[in-house]
Amino acid sequence: MKAPDPPPDDGRETGDLPNERLRSGMHRVADRIADYLDSVGESRVVPRVEPGALLESLPESPPREGEDLDRILDDYERLIEPNVTHWNHPGFLAYFGITGSAPGILGEALAAALNVNAMLWRTGPAAVELEERVCDWVRQLVGLPLGFHGHINDTASTSTLVALGAARDARRPEVRRLGLSGGEIPPLVVYASDQAHSSVDKAAMALGLGLQQVRRVASDGAFRMRADELEEAIAVDRAAGREPLAVVATAGTTSTTSVDPLHEIAEICGREGIWLHVDAAYAGPAACLPERREMFRGWERADSIVLNPHKWLFTPIDCSLLFVRDLEGLKRAWSVIPAYLASEESVTNPMDLGFQLGRRFRSLKLWMVLRGFGVSGVQDRIREHCRLANEFASWVDEHPTFERVAPVPFSVVCFRARFGAPEERQNELQRRLLEMVNVAGPVFLSGTELNGRFTLRVAVGNLRTREAHLRTAWDLLVESARRLNEEVGG
Ligand code: PLP
Repeated sequence: MKAPDPPPDDGRETGDLPNERLRSGMHRVADRIADYLDSVGESRVVPRVEPGALLESLPESPPREGEDLDRILDDYERLIEPNVTHWNHPGFLAYFGITGSAPGILGEALAAALNVNAMLWRTGPAAVELEERVCDWVRQLVGLPLGFHGHINDTASTSTLVALGAARDARRPEVRRLGLSGGEIPPLVVYASDQAHSSVDKAAMALGLGLQQVRRVASDGAFRMRADELEEAIAVDRAAGREPLAVVATAGTTSTTSVDPLHEIAEICGREGIWLHVDAAYAGPAACLPERREMFRGWERADSIVLNPHKWLFTPIDCSLLFVRDLEGLKRAWSVIPAYLASEESVTNPMDLGFQLGRRFRSLKLWMVLRGFGVSGVQDRIREHCRLANEFASWVDEHPTFERVAPVPFSVVCFRARFGAPEERQNELQRRLLEMVNVAGPVFLSGTELNGRFTLRVAVGNLRTREAHLRTAWDLLVESARRLNEEVGG
């Protein structure tokens, strides 16, 4: 029987745009994106905008009738683009500098068109299998051994939550049914250094372990977890009847990018029978460099590892990769299969790998990035970022007004200015320095606190950042520090 003729594609049937209009809209969007990336470096990194200003210029209610696409895109150009903080700006040196590269942008667009929800293999065979393959490519890229199974979550925060959930299930499977208060469960303790990311605290809260059960282990002078302190904390907890559950070691801490002594920590975890989760959200991709691999020694013994391609693998946010050694254990921890999601195939269904059911097709953009750059392309960029950061660090080291306050293992430099003012004013002056540099516009830096001292950071991670952008930041820092020193009479 002949299929009925499709309805005319004029949008009247569906309410959606006719495909011809989509096509011309995409052409305009393609031009807009290319123009944006061409010119993003010419604008301020952070827009001059007061909180609430955009809100005021947006209509309070949605339009009654659908609007013309060109009008919507005009408004995007007029209202939205100028009022974002430009993470793709080469002068973006704050937090962790990141880039949504061209292959990744294209992958996002295609994933939106496919609109696959890869909750089951059946609901997205290509998405599920591409994810498996691409995660294994990343495993090879960073030199992890066979036996790690990767999958993609939105963020590292989710990946760590999912990993610690698996740790809890491995140690106390009864918690799944009884909850933490339903049986004779002692407090379950998670260890992380005083430099570890706050996502560890949030995971402990969400899993019901409680913040009180997160031990913040002291770090050494280079901001790495002290293994002796970890051992002692474990012994104290055991003696008090608490149960050590997991250690979260960090490879690339958020403030200074320090790397915990993974090998020693893995030894302790092995000896004590404690789950080891390695948070390599930022620095993990740097293990693609043979000359930096040694810094990661020990992570191959972890039970789980998180690494974010959206941080330093040029993939548009969001994309966080979680590797686990025991895939079946992960499924036991998280799988809940209602009748309406039961499937016939003996395959891994992504919905069984964590908290969320529905999943975006994130592996598409990662696949396109890895193919677009190739291993050597990724290595070249990461190596260059580390070189640029070390160059910047040398300027800090050579200047009498500045001091570096942490080693530079990767592409982040932590430093302070020296002000001729009493110690109690130093933090406030560092903050003012940061503010003066950021107000200028061409660069954006962020700060942190190390041992109670406010510290400025320069983070290189953007594909477009060149030495000239670091020079601009440096000149602004030197000049602003000079003016502040003049003001305080230093
Ligand atoms: N772990 C580390 C070391 C981080 O630096 C960050 C964020 O910067 C996270 C985890 C959390 O990352 P996400 O935003 O992907 O949850």
